[in-house]
Amino acid sequence: MRQISHSVFVNQEFAGPSLGLIVTRQGNILIDSPDSPTECVHWRQEAETRGRVKYLVNTDGHPDHYFGDYFLPGTLIATSGARDVMAGTTKAEVVARVKKVDPDGLKLMARYKVKLPAITFREGTLELHLGGLLVRLVHTGGHSPNLLAIHVPQEKVIFVGDNINWRHKTRLHDADPVKWLASLEWVKSLDVDTIVPGHGRNTFGKEYIEEQASYVRRWVDAVRSAMKLGWTAAEALQRIKCPDPYPTSHRSPNTEKEVDAQIINRLYQYFSAVGK
Ligand SMILES: [Zn+2]
Repeated sequence: MRQISHSVFVNQEFAGPSLGLIVTRQGNILIDSPDSPTECVHWRQEAETRGRVKYLVNTDGHPDHYFGDYFLPGTLIATSGARDVMAGTTKAEVVARVKKVDPDGLKLMARYKVKLPAITFREGTLELHLGGLLVRLVHTGGHSPNLLAIHVPQEKVIFVGDNINWRHKTRLHDADPVKWLASLEWVKSLDVDTIVPGHGRNTFGKEYIEEQASYVRRWVDAVRSAMKLGWTAAEALQRIKCPDPYPTSHRSPNTEKEVDAQIINRLYQYFSAVGK
């Protein structure tokens, strides 16, 4: 765990999403969960050395961010759409994933239940006021319809979830690329010094935003060109060369080819919809 501002810590030592800890006099806030039960147990022990956890916030409704919530303390907060996804997740699905990513962790799964958010919001911003610190949860969408960013204005820090991944493949399989690019413009407009990505072992300033935006644009350009040429999605799968230089997370249950296919299918569906 590394301190990045007066009250904010990050843990990027595991293979899953960036984990956050915001420390206040009135209780602490955890951000996202490790995507392995064994790592969740370690993270909980480490985080609790800094005091009592009051809230746990998920930046997204994708399993790598929420399936470890069960192992962590705190009242869970997420977007309403993320809650719907979690409510539709079965224990069997989580067990199948744990088998792949953390076989040793299966012994921790006996009583597992998907933890559901007690506090949700549908759109806009939810503001938490704890111990003199304002923490803004902003439903931006982009990488997924249910993505929220966590902005701590007093400390010029923002957790952007998977709208920025540091040197990881840009995953558009569930994306609205227009909202994604708009949310990156919004981050540029904020008075922030430190950006915490959804994945990747680094924090940085605004200089990486444009690079991230370029990968979203490259996928969009590749698919739109294919559509203009009249290719079907199946033809595009054969012919489009992945325009992203980075690999997907080594713990992803999908191969690079499968991820590319998910992205191309999603963008075909998106741009085929009326008015896009
Ligand atoms: Zn993720």
